[in-house]
Amino acid sequence: MNEKIMFADLNLSAETLQSLIDMGFTTPSPIQEQAIPFLLEGKDMIGQAQTGTGKTAAFAVPAIELIDVEKRGVQTLVMCPTRELAIQVAEEFKKIGKYKKGFRTVAVYGGSSIDKQIQALRQGVQVVIGTPGRIMDHIDRGTLKLDSIEMVILDEADEMLNMGFIDDIESILSNTPEGRQTVFFSATMPKPIMDLTRRFQKNPEIIKVAAKELTVTNIEQFYFEVRHTARVEAMSRIIDMHGLKLMLVFCNQKRVVDELVEELQVRGMMAEGIHGDLRQQQRNNVLSKFKQGVVSILVATDVAARGIDVDNVDAVFNYDIPLDDESYVHRIGRTGRAGRKGKSFTFLTGRKDALRMRDIERYTKSQVAKGEVPSGAEIEAFRKNQFVEKITNLVNADQFNEFIPLAEQIIATGISPLKIIASLSKLHLGTLASKTGGDENFSVETRGSRDSSDRGGRDRGDRSGADRGGRSSDRFERRPSGDRFESNRGGGSDRFDRGGDRSRSGGNRFERSGDRPERGPSRDYETNSADMQRIAINIGRNQRVRPGDIVGALAGESGINGKNIGNIEIKDSTTFVFVPKTDARKVLDAMNGNTIKGFNVMLELAD
Ligand code: ADP
Ligand code: MG
Repeated sequence: MNEKIMFADLNLSAETLQSLIDMGFTTPSPIQEQAIPFLLEGKDMIGQAQTGTGKTAAFAVPAIELIDVEKRGVQTLVMCPTRELAIQVAEEFKKIGKYKKGFRTVAVYGGSSIDKQIQALRQGVQVVIGTPGRIMDHIDRGTLKLDSIEMVILDEADEMLNMGFIDDIESILSNTPEGRQTVFFSATMPKPIMDLTRRFQKNPEIIKVAAKELTVTNIEQFYFEVRHTARVEAMSRIIDMHGLKLMLVFCNQKRVVDELVEELQVRGMMAEGIHGDLRQQQRNNVLSKFKQGVVSILVATDVAARGIDVDNVDAVFNYDIPLDDESYVHRIGRTGRAGRKGKSFTFLTGRKDALRMRDIERYTKSQVAKGEVPSGAEIEAFRKNQFVEKITNLVNADQFNEFIPLAEQIIATGISPLKIIASLSKLHLGTLASKTGGDENFSVETRGSRDSSDRGGRDRGDRSGADRGGRSSDRFERRPSGDRFESNRGGGSDRFDRGGDRSRSGGNRFERSGDRPERGPSRDYETNSADMQRIAINIGRNQRVRPGDIVGALAGESGINGKNIGNIEIKDSTTFVFVPKTDARKVLDAMNGNTIKGFNVMLELAD
């Protein structure tokens, strides 16, 4: 406990130790310290830890140590939820295994040439890393044989289940030899995962890294109450004030990603966006520019951002507050990685957001501090001070000699030093007024709802004044509440990034379904799937209901996960919505007698 464990204490081969040193890893992270010894002993294990805790090396190191390069056939199989993760994990395996003679690995995933993968498999590899869909593909084709497998690793198991890979996973696990070592890594341990481990693991060792050290200790979290339309300006001031260089900005929806990128670019910021509509090539371009720092602001949806692994992200912005708690953790976990410090900034534009923030604080057991958007004057003072500090540093560092002749030349003009310095400052800082202009009022007041647990005080719940311009809805919902979610009017299935879009564009090619559309991961919750319950709500087009209103209300009021809400069909005076059967009761209880858009609603089961 008191002595700090080093990798050198973990009985690793000289080759592996050397490659870890090359990678800059000297001390194992907590999950690594605990997992590596168990895995080296060949035990089954469940490792629970959040993003950014070093899970990859926690399994890659022992997996590589246990590989016998003399043996034929694939020995280790790693399943990952997305192609990005598969690629990343494969890269880590390559780095850690680089001094191990004869060690070979291949990543298999959808959307890249299967022939190349087949070729690599034929040549013989000891480790196969891939998405469940593509792994199944290779098994079906006979290009991947499982009979020599000794170790199976599920990375981000919860995510794979969320994506509907459960059938593939079960099938793959059932077809590997009984005596294999089975390892699960997951940020959360929901029941389906526990069921899986019970079926496929033997006396697994459970290793947990306590939630609070994982997520947020080295991330300073702030929230800002700002008007919906003031968020870009607020962002740009926060960036200035904190001197942020590399940032990840999350939006709930593709359309917003595109719009925001455009706005940021107009302001001269190096921003790019990624979401599921981009081709893989474009996406890779953007990502590599971000990694190199050529792009300083990456705007993304949750799904598109999965697997982005960039170490030196200074801050994460929640341009939209995420719809579920877990996403918040995943999002802000992109900063403050590998022992660095990070910051997160979450914009709250109304009461609903404030309530979400409170839920998130509870869930993460952490405090999010209220931040104030710096005023124009503050920004200006800050920039001036910085400039003075820079000059002072430069002078102290004595790094100006090459410019002495130039300085002499300028002084020789006879202009007073004061005027010269003022002009140089202007050259450097630009017009000082530029940032101070339009110091309009940014803020909205959402605090009342953060402190109040009174349901009646919520925006939709405020029946007395809710109808039109009711006190609260007027204040917080300057825009129709559905606005933020909706991207095509009247499209019944249209929700936000994760779900509906795929039905329109014929498959989000980059995420799970790209792998094997025919296996149909069920995250979309097929309209008539047996797991879903149809619910009728007594408002519809006549009340100008939009899909976003329904998702917002159901998720907000009943606490069910917005992404689990299925198809929404809006008729003149009725709206039909599918929710998971297991949640139907909860939804009815929470919504009956409640209001949506100021209308009293009645919900009933429908079929
Ligand atoms: P997770 O899978 O838990 O999200 P990763 O395995 O992707 O985490 O690791 C997060 C980051 O931490 C990566 O950039 C990785 O290179 C770095 N990292 C992992 N282990 C160590 C270590 N022992 N020392 C220093 N950096 C590490
Ligand atoms: Mg990982």
